[in-house]
Amino acid sequence: MNIIAPRINDPVSQGIAAYLDEIIALRHDLHQYPELAFQERRTSKLVASHLSSWGYEVTTGIAGTGLVATLKRGDGERRIGIRADMDGLPIEEATELAYASNNPGVMHACGHDGHTSILLAAARYLAESGTFNGTLHLIFQPAEEIGAGARKMISEGLFERFPVDAVFGLHNWPSVPSGQFGFVAGAAMASVDQAKIRIVGKGGHGAEPHRAVDPVLASASFITALQSVVSRNVDPQEMAVVTVGSIHAGSASNVIPESVELKLTMRAFSEGVRQQLRDRIPALARAQAESFGAVAEVDYRLGFPALINHRDQTEFARKVALDTFGPAKVEEGFKPRTASEDFAFMLQERPGSYLFVGNGDTAPLHSAHYDFDDTIIAPAARYWVRLAETFLS
Ligand SMILES: [Zn+2]
Ligand SMILES: [Zn+2]
Repeated sequence: MNIIAPRINDPVSQGIAAYLDEIIALRHDLHQYPELAFQERRTSKLVASHLSSWGYEVTTGIAGTGLVATLKRGDGERRIGIRADMDGLPIEEATELAYASNNPGVMHACGHDGHTSILLAAARYLAESGTFNGTLHLIFQPAEEIGAGARKMISEGLFERFPVDAVFGLHNWPSVPSGQFGFVAGAAMASVDQAKIRIVGKGGHGAEPHRAVDPVLASASFITALQSVVSRNVDPQEMAVVTVGSIHAGSASNVIPESVELKLTMRAFSEGVRQQLRDRIPALARAQAESFGAVAEVDYRLGFPALINHRDQTEFARKVALDTFGPAKVEEGFKPRTASEDFAFMLQERPGSYLFVGNGDTAPLHSAHYDFDDTIIAPAARYWVRLAETFLS
């Protein structure tokens, strides 16, 4: 393999370093005012005003708060899309940070404030000093956390209005060393589906179970049987997750409740396994309930598909990281993640790749203690610059 040594004092790093303080201040500002899915009005305005001031043509109002910033240079016909997400989560922040959330019950617990800041840092460099020949479309997406923003932007003509030859995105990843890059060709993140299952029996006195149909016992049996889906139905070489995250029934020790409500989440890397879960789980719920004289009502909702990275674009993205940072910064054999990401919809429309940047030893994503690592802004922004410049060279 022919790897170019990482450049010390390279112009991109120097360029970004000149205004990095401003970007970090902006990141803290975004962190202080997190906004939930489709409500990213302040964030979107702020992002748009910066991009316009740097000379981008900014199109707002795509999927409500979403926007695309476009910059053309030269007569090149190639077009690249780079996407960042902007929404926060309904979590009460528990960090002691000076810039912790000012919006009660809302927190940037997934680092989307960081992703937005990284892309802004790259955007500024590309506008001021970028060397490229073609069209750059920077996509700032709302509502990733509810799996709706990417789909809505696409349905509003994202890729017809802003055609791209490839689209890229990134996510920070706690537990991976800070600034370490990870690439996965093929399935990189899982599909996510949900089910609400209500097992209905017949309520009664806790002392007279023979006059009732106990839905608690039926649901206990169902949960046990559910473990057989992954262990006995799914091919052992395939990935599947079935989690019962919520179970509610009754309120008194001496009353057999009428019903039990369960909420499940399912993950898979392939459509085949996803379909298998969709077939087996409702069938098991109904059969298990019936065997106790109860009835199961199943509401199975498809969320979003697995994120499938395209091979050529992933190899390209990995090579850019190797050329920019050297092999020490690119994790070998980076494993797919069982979390989910609605960038999957963009990759169903256009070729591209979704990559990972280590966030160091912090609390996990979606934790009230999660803390985005500001030291990854500069290298990740430098990476976006190099990716765009190489793609549009
Ligand atoms: Zn998230
Ligand atoms: Zn996220």
